[in-house]
Amino acid sequence: MKVYSSFFEIQADLAAGKVTCVELVDNYLVNIENKKHLNVFLEVYKEEAKAHAIEVDKKIKSGKAGKLAGMVIGLKDVLCHKNHQLTASSKILGNFVSQFNGTVVQRLLNEDAIIIGRQNCDEFAMGSTNENSAFGPVLNDADNTRVPGGSSGGSAVAVQANMCLASIGSDTGGSVRQPASFCGVVGLKPTYSRVSRFGLIAYASSFDCIGPITKNVADAALLLEVIAGKDDQDSTVSQKPVPQYSKIVPSSTKLKIGYLKESLESDAIQPEIKKNISETIDKLKAQGHIVEPVEFGLMDYYLPTYYILTTAEASTNLSRYDGVRYGYRSPNTVDLESMYKKSREEGFGKEVKKRIMLGTFVLSASYYDAYYNKAQKIRRLIKENTEKLLSEYQYILMPAAPTTAYKIGEMTTDPLAMYLSDIFTVHANLAGVPGISVPIGKDSNNLPIGLQIIGNYFDEEGILSLASVIEKI
Ligand code: GLN
Repeated sequence: MKVYSSFFEIQADLAAGKVTCVELVDNYLVNIENKKHLNVFLEVYKEEAKAHAIEVDKKIKSGKAGKLAGMVIGLKDVLCHKNHQLTASSKILGNFVSQFNGTVVQRLLNEDAIIIGRQNCDEFAMGSTNENSAFGPVLNDADNTRVPGGSSGGSAVAVQANMCLASIGSDTGGSVRQPASFCGVVGLKPTYSRVSRFGLIAYASSFDCIGPITKNVADAALLLEVIAGKDDQDSTVSQKPVPQYSKIVPSSTKLKIGYLKESLESDAIQPEIKKNISETIDKLKAQGHIVEPVEFGLMDYYLPTYYILTTAEASTNLSRYDGVRYGYRSPNTVDLESMYKKSREEGFGKEVKKRIMLGTFVLSASYYDAYYNKAQKIRRLIKENTEKLLSEYQYILMPAAPTTAYKIGEMTTDPLAMYLSDIFTVHANLAGVPGISVPIGKDSNNLPIGLQIIGNYFDEEGILSLASVIEKI
């Protein structure tokens, strides 16, 4: 079967009777089987997806199909999908099964998307390489000795390796954009509060965003249109009406764009990434856009602020996994206290434990002011800086990551280096603004390079439209 690289093509072929949903699902199932070694899926809904495809084919025939009819998608293993297992790639959830559909999952199903399986990720979405999964690492399809990025690594590789057309991931500090950039696909993190978090396993609630990973910008736009918008189940969701993102065309007006000066000057950035970005900038200038270097300020504070606040929130969010209410309960216990302790000790992985301890520390009475409170204040300054910059420039360009995909194991011995590699993505989550990563080329090892665009609050239309321009050049 032909390799589809956009939903538009699929819809055209479905309408012309050249393909059916059943054939599409069968084809993805074959690809999943052939690429099993990548360790992308924790569970494949083989029979269910086939049965659903038959139903959607009927709906298409009768003219009653939803906007996503024919779109075969995968879900990062952090999204509640009724009557399906959910683990957050952790042992602590044991055989937990979702009792309900999260809002995003429900909206996808309402529009007739076909869900093909549950995808591997870093445990509780904590990580940048997918090596923190309790179910083993995911391999990058461009080079099987390399990581796919994280934490939505399984979701990015699934799209890269044609195991489904699109995936839904979550982005707390870059987990949609960074793996997208490592795998040569598109990853969109919406404005905080644009998309409901109801039914998303919480990592750091004031940062967490659900976003699509796709083969192109138009598909990301369509998925955002379906999943965004107010929700009675999540009071933090914006009431703003949802624009028709799917109608977006490449921006034709002349834009004022900034690019992070450091991204072309810092020694820490891989030279080929600099080269690709400056070529893209030249092409944008040639089209008449103003593209100027900008400095963010406060950049040294991004990572400490991010890792203090997210671990604090995580330590609170993850206190619910106590062996009583969900999943795993240690059999090696003698009383209530040892049951809590043993269940958590045996159920959580190393990185998650480290973050719970760090978060508990920064929230403790003696250190609260020195760390948590201070980090909150710095977050406010970062937000204000970003707002100021985005009042002068419509969009800001920077790499999604300082390097292309690393070797498996390369970063695990140096956790600080791994945290540092999140420098460009955590910014959008700290400020709450939207960001997208678009592929702009490959390095000499044939590894994908992603360019990130950030824009103003709720200007997803703008960043998608600029992303379409960049996708074309
Ligand atoms: N790599 C970052 C972290 O480990 C981002 C994770 C995410 O966005 N979920 O926290």
